[in-house]
Amino acid sequence: MYINSSISAHYTQQTKEQASKMSVEVSFDKSKHHSHQLSLANNLKLALAIKYSTKDLKIKINEDSTSTEPLLVSDKVTLFDTNSILRYTMNDFTLQDNEETQYLFDKLAGDNVSHDVATHALTNFITKKIDEPITATRLITIATVYSIIPTEFKNSDLLTKLPVEIKLAIEEAEKFTPRTSADFKHTGATNIKHGFEVRDLGPEILPKDGERNILITSALPYVNNVPHLGNIVGSVLSADIFARYCKARNYNAIFIGGTDEYGTATETKALEEKVTPRELCDKYYKIHSDVYKWFQIDFDHFGRTTTEKQTEIAQDIFLKLNANDYLEEQSMKQLYCPVHNSYLADRYVEGECPKCHYDDARGDQCDGCGALLDPFELINPHCKLDNATPIPKVTDHVFLSLDKLEPKINDWFKTSSEKGQWSKNSKTITNSWLKDGLKPRSITRDLVWGTPVPLEKYKDKVLYVWFDATIGYVSITANYTKNWEQWWKNPENVKLYQFMGKDNVPFHTVVFPGSQLGTGDDWTMLHHLNTTEYLQYEGGKFSKSRGVGVFGNNAQESGISPSVWRYYLASVRPESSDSHFSWDDFAARNNSELLANLGNLVNRLIKFTNAKYNGVVPEYDPKNIENYDSVVEDVNTILANYVKEMEVGHERRGLEIAMSLSARGNAFLQENKLDNTLFSQHAAKSDAVVGVGLNIIYTVASIMLPFVPETAEKIFKMLNAPQLKIDETFHLILQGGHNINKAEYLFQRIEQKDVDSWRAKYGGQQE
Ligand SMILES: [Zn+2]
Ligand SMILES: [Zn+2]
Repeated sequence: MYINSSISAHYTQQTKEQASKMSVEVSFDKSKHHSHQLSLANNLKLALAIKYSTKDLKIKINEDSTSTEPLLVSDKVTLFDTNSILRYTMNDFTLQDNEETQYLFDKLAGDNVSHDVATHALTNFITKKIDEPITATRLITIATVYSIIPTEFKNSDLLTKLPVEIKLAIEEAEKFTPRTSADFKHTGATNIKHGFEVRDLGPEILPKDGERNILITSALPYVNNVPHLGNIVGSVLSADIFARYCKARNYNAIFIGGTDEYGTATETKALEEKVTPRELCDKYYKIHSDVYKWFQIDFDHFGRTTTEKQTEIAQDIFLKLNANDYLEEQSMKQLYCPVHNSYLADRYVEGECPKCHYDDARGDQCDGCGALLDPFELINPHCKLDNATPIPKVTDHVFLSLDKLEPKINDWFKTSSEKGQWSKNSKTITNSWLKDGLKPRSITRDLVWGTPVPLEKYKDKVLYVWFDATIGYVSITANYTKNWEQWWKNPENVKLYQFMGKDNVPFHTVVFPGSQLGTGDDWTMLHHLNTTEYLQYEGGKFSKSRGVGVFGNNAQESGISPSVWRYYLASVRPESSDSHFSWDDFAARNNSELLANLGNLVNRLIKFTNAKYNGVVPEYDPKNIENYDSVVEDVNTILANYVKEMEVGHERRGLEIAMSLSARGNAFLQENKLDNTLFSQHAAKSDAVVGVGLNIIYTVASIMLPFVPETAEKIFKMLNAPQLKIDETFHLILQGGHNINKAEYLFQRIEQKDVDSWRAKYGGQQE
């Protein structure tokens, strides 16, 4: 900054005589070649010159001036230097003979006009001399300091103590000194407060002392079919959202999943496809893996039940149950198909439900009323493959003595379901099972494709898949880490959270816990059970055979981001009753929620920051926003509610709350009228709105991440910041000087024609 004190002497004599009748014109500094700081200092001096001009001097602002440089023109003189202009109009050519002022002037005249010098001047030269008379030198000092540290100046309470003319002059100067983005230099530098990152749990996640160790599982889908959206939201997606939430809270969480591969269904399908069961499982395991990968289901390990570890662990459990007298032998009538010469798995017998008379019930379960069935109870049973009427044959089988285990199961259920806040339907289903009294259930089958029964007499039989499958969680963990017992035999330090559709409940609340209790080992047992009802497709059922509904691989073909699919599925998650997938609703939520609410918030502010600030977060003080405290209060309330709901697996509500934070962010930008005028004329407030607003976006992205990971990652990338941990309180983490990246579109509008074509494509034979 150029400050010239010698020029004044030259004009002293003539101006003193001629000023009395003089009329002059002043032009403000509009030079594009000046920094914002220099223009502001110049214009503040000009505005002060007008306010403090001697009473004989008539000053007019020449707004049409062609000069972009500061200028004072009269009949007699033309001045370019704003210090001289101020001295001239005040008729004050006395330099204060003051060491401190001189020190400041020397510093300000140097190349590096530092923030520190200005702050020093603010405290020492201006505030301490508040009662001294206003001189030209003092005004020059004030203007210079103000231009360097406007925010600190305003916040120093000085404005209320200084004459009102100075305040008015500042407003005038800011009006004539519009900021441009050229005042901000994008360097790519970062300035982020530390301590708010999400930690990396490393390649092998194991429980840690004194931490919240959370073991999360999603129901193992049966391998031989492609999962539809209802399967996905019911187990893997729900579990993934929870796992991502836990990890974003910096809990020590692990997420285990895989495919359930043994059983007759696989054997039969392998026969049909003329491959071995192993080859069939390999093929479908990949299909499942790919679908979940596309949906960004981030398992720490996605395994399978057909492994050595499964044999080892399932047989160990079996033998311990046997040793503890919880197994018994019974002769069992089994259905045998005389046409394809094989015992029939329960699910391969179909017929009418004896309880509700639904006529498409399977031998293991009725989809009409949800009852677990014995295939012999079915009315008019027939083989699913060839429609033949099955013949009963008698063989010996091993039964799990659930009747003997019942008191233990009952006690455990009562405690765990309360402590772990199980979802309502899972308690109802378990209660209805326990109500009738438990009976021994067969846990062996006459098959080849299964875990061999570790008893000589039964060496040609295998463990029944619903006894075997839940052990899969354990063996899959064992295939992830040799230290699996730290997760599964550590009830004091590990909490087990399980996610599934309601049809899987009894296996997880009765059979598996019963098996665990019967071994006498110190197992980690189910803590929180999270179950869903069914998702219907456009008012009907998903059906692969009829081509109705969207299956995992179809979602990919839509060209819509997995985040949009995840968002939609989570927003219609059937938590307390069945819910419906509808294409109209899908499009509406994309267009009016994701695009209009979240997309708009992010896009508007990121674009504004790039356009006006060159992508540089300005130095900001949130106090420049009038209702800042109430904004923080709103955000904190939203965050606390979000955490409260997510802790107990209320994901649908959690998502609604997360979106309400985005809406609060939009309202925040509206309330503060973020626009060009704010930027150019209310710099301090504009800076604060941008600084606080970007931090709101950062926070929104952190709590949306469990639902829409791809979208959240894009937002973090735009903000040039790492994933932010989920906290219950709002923090200003992105600081002044932090550089963000360019805006990217997060969502695209879904048009009616897309909806129509998808509905036709996936509608099967339905109306
Ligand atoms: Zn048959
Ligand atoms: Zn039924």
